[in-house]
Amino acid sequence: DAEVVLVGRSNVGKSTLMRELTGHSFDTGGKPGVTRSPNHYDWTAEDFVLTDLPGFGFMSGVEEDHREQIKTDIVRYLEEYADNVLVAVLVVDGKSVVDIIDRHTGPDSIPYDVEMYHFLQDIGIPTVVAVNKMDKVDDRDERLDELAERLGLYPPWKQWQETIAPISAKREQLEPMYEAVRTHLHEQERDDLF
Ligand code: GDP
Repeated sequence: DAEVVLVGRSNVGKSTLMRELTGHSFDTGGKPGVTRSPNHYDWTAEDFVLTDLPGFGFMSGVEEDHREQIKTDIVRYLEEYADNVLVAVLVVDGKSVVDIIDRHTGPDSIPYDVEMYHFLQDIGIPTVVAVNKMDKVDDRDERLDELAERLGLYPPWKQWQETIAPISAKREQLEPMYEAVRTHLHEQERDDLF
């Protein structure tokens, strides 16, 4: 079955979002870094499988090698199933993502969210960046412009609504993400016709 994958650092609200999309309950706020293999669910509103990839990034009490292993597994999974994956949803925390990106940008380091975004582009998977927890963000447009710029998308972010989707999983405000995902699905249907 055609698949939509969800990736994101720990604590960005991926479990909360999964619960909204599937109606299943997930272990929100659970112990991060516990390795989970990819989990597959039906996306109730749509006709495809939703795959939850393990969270990654800093996790207290989790060894560096273990964190690297999680990342390697995610990359392998995406490479292996790239042809089957219709859309990837990269979930970030709108409140902290720009600071985290800036903190991890250096001469030899690329922040994980930026790296993952480019990796998904490189392997040809259309990507929606679901910017979660927007209920906590005051300077919305400014923040989203900064994020766009960090991802190499020329601001204003509103030009990139098929990529940047501000949401609040907790408040069930998900329409921009649905809309962005739909745009990519329709593009692919068009491509299949020609
Ligand atoms: P995960 O580690 O990515 O699966 O993150 P969780 O779904 O467990 O969420 C981490 C924390 O962020 C929890 O305390 C959630 O209640 C909170 N959270 C998730 N989504 C939102 C949101 O849209 N807004 C706010 N304010 N908090 C959220």
